[in-house]
Amino acid sequence: MADTYRNFREKLLEGEVTCKNNVESYLARAKNKSNLNAFLQLFDESAEAAEKVDSKVKAGTAGKLAGMVLAVKDVIAIKDKRLTCGSKILENFVSVYDATVIERLKSEDVIIVGKTNMDEFAMGSSTEYSAYGPVLNPVDTTRVPGGSSGGSAAAVAAGLCHVALGTDTGGSIRQPASFCGVVGLKPTYGRVSRYGLVAFASSFDVIGPFANSVYDAALILEVLAGHDERDSTSAERAVPSYTSFLDRDVKNFRVGIAKGPDKVGTGIADEVREAIEKQIDILRAAGVEIKEVSMPHLDYTIPTYYILATAEASSNLERYDGARYGYRAKDAEELSEGSYGEDVYVKSRTEGFGAEVKRRIMLGTFVLSAGYYDAYYRKAQKVRRLIKEDFDKAFQDVDAIITPTAPTTAFKFGAKTSDPLQMYLSDIFTVSANLAGIPGISVPVGKDSQSLPIGLQLLGRQFEEETILTLANFIEQWTIR
Ligand code: GLN
Repeated sequence: MADTYRNFREKLLEGEVTCKNNVESYLARAKNKSNLNAFLQLFDESAEAAEKVDSKVKAGTAGKLAGMVLAVKDVIAIKDKRLTCGSKILENFVSVYDATVIERLKSEDVIIVGKTNMDEFAMGSSTEYSAYGPVLNPVDTTRVPGGSSGGSAAAVAAGLCHVALGTDTGGSIRQPASFCGVVGLKPTYGRVSRYGLVAFASSFDVIGPFANSVYDAALILEVLAGHDERDSTSAERAVPSYTSFLDRDVKNFRVGIAKGPDKVGTGIADEVREAIEKQIDILRAAGVEIKEVSMPHLDYTIPTYYILATAEASSNLERYDGARYGYRAKDAEELSEGSYGEDVYVKSRTEGFGAEVKRRIMLGTFVLSAGYYDAYYRKAQKVRRLIKEDFDKAFQDVDAIITPTAPTTAFKFGAKTSDPLQMYLSDIFTVSANLAGIPGISVPVGKDSQSLPIGLQLLGRQFEEETILTLANFIEQWTIR
């Protein structure tokens, strides 16, 4: 059912299919599967855009991603389209410009078919925190698709697009990819421009793809990546041709298994552990050198992340005040002489934000407050540095590190909403990559006894996406999904 862009492109260039017909059938399928709640908006007019790409294909002038059917997480700006971030506070907000990634993709003739559902402001691990209702996991609709990019993961897994964009601040691409059985790539921090991405935690946020193959993820990264003068944190490094690395022999690659304290308890399910161990055996048999690497600060990743990310979020979300744009409480007292409009701020934010976003703002404000700044925020910054150093050291010995993507397979709706800490712990294997700014990929490695997908995570050195892509591609070739 779920086709890869690579396959489609072959047929397109052979003249066997057209972009227009293809987009129409994708749109029809998406409507058919509206019960999944993966899309917040579908763009019917994209069939016309597809027609234009068909003419370019005929003329031989089509772009590198001609006719790729793409869905975009609703936290990335597309000109003249609503940009809700899964929040009521931005329900009617329309973007006036394209994000850099959107500009780049459009210029390569991608067809954008819609915007996908997500946890409000990308805070969550199950997409249950969307103001527009949860997304169902297409593999088992009684279960969550993961989060926060759950709509994008579900759309790719259900065959409603070839590729989807997500964002990863603490695992929001990799964990839903794992739960839905697709490939999810979080690039190095700074590899992809954040211009036009609504900020959650600016020193962590990265845009990346979901795809039905490692090849498709590598291909779109070639277009997404690169310097952008409108994002000063985007790197000025040349962009490799990622796809050309994929078929390298993995023999003599060195892969690490992270060993560290486990006082918090990763809660890893037996079947997940076994699936990962099996892949390690396959890699070993292919000549990969497997080594243990020590990660002494592994236990501190979740607390460090939840201090720093909430601190940054509390600052980034200040701008939703009911005055400049977005939702404004109806019965709030207006700004007037003697009033600073507190009523507008308080009521608009109280009504506009959901419970999880409020929790994060309060946590973040607390850790930044004068009396606690040193004890929490400053200390967490120091620990972030130590975690980064653990990785630097490990990567002197190995080219990549293997972990499960998530401790369990997809859980049932409501299983973790009553205990925020349990929800936060679903990111235990993913947040370290965001703390260190390194790339990570989740690749499906089979299913558990309930037929739920299991994801394997590979982490790599900064700006060495090609290494984890090559290893993931090898694993994909050997894994019968
Ligand atoms: N689940 C994590 C959180 O809630 C990560 C979110 C993300 O990567 N956007 O913060």
